Amino acid sequence: MSEYYQIAVDGPSGSGKSTLAKGVAKKLGILYLDTGAMYRACGLKALKSGIGTKDKDAVEKMMQDIRIDITHEDGSQHVWLDGEDVSSDIRTPEVSMAASDVSAIPCVREAMVDLQRKISEGKNVILDGRDIGSKVFPNAKYKFFLVASAEERARRRLLELQEKGNTEVTYEEVLSDIEKRDLQDSTRAASPLVKVDDAIEIDTTKIDIEETQDLLLSYIKE
Ligand code: C5P
Repeated sequence: MSEYYQIAVDGPSGSGKSTLAKGVAKKLGILYLDTGAMYRACGLKALKSGIGTKDKDAVEKMMQDIRIDITHEDGSQHVWLDGEDVSSDIRTPEVSMAASDVSAIPCVREAMVDLQRKISEGKNVILDGRDIGSKVFPNAKYKFFLVASAEERARRRLLELQEKGNTEVTYEEVLSDIEKRDLQDSTRAASPLVKVDDAIEIDTTKIDIEETQDLLLSYIKE
């Protein structure tokens, strides 16, 4: 048994995983790894290269020549694509969809899972994603699965986009993107989004981030 532990936080987009995981990491003094950012970097590279984000052969070729690095500065994660800091560029609706597309391709998943395990080596870590408890760390000490209604998740995502200055996108567009991504992420053949039996489910529809964090920490302290 490893002397280090992992906390897995899985769930659909907008369920509150990243804010929660970031807060818990700070509280416990452990590393936070946002795995969605890595798939987003792959999606961004596909868009920049002008290849089809669902084109398996082209994406496989692209993956032979990609460099993704993760750094942490003052507790916030930075994602580097081929030497360029793309931490802000990956937060657009277009990149969200591209990430969902490329993440269904097995070679993308294999490369990202390897990277996630490598970064987590020799550390206590909390990771958020879709397959952390099922695939990346099936023996994680703690596993959580966050859910929330699609409408509430769309409301939160819209707010997030507006705070970043994106005032063009509408609630209906965000909701439709979320529903499309939910379907794609949970029906793909490679590591679909599923709640594993030993994960604790937390419904965040009606509770705020502080209550969610307290709830999660109460399980960890037990
Ligand atoms: O979590 P986030 O919304 O940033 O993830 C973007 C996309 O990356 C998801 O829609 C999903 O398709 C993919 N993803 C994944 N496995 C993970 C994390 C994210 O397939 N562990």
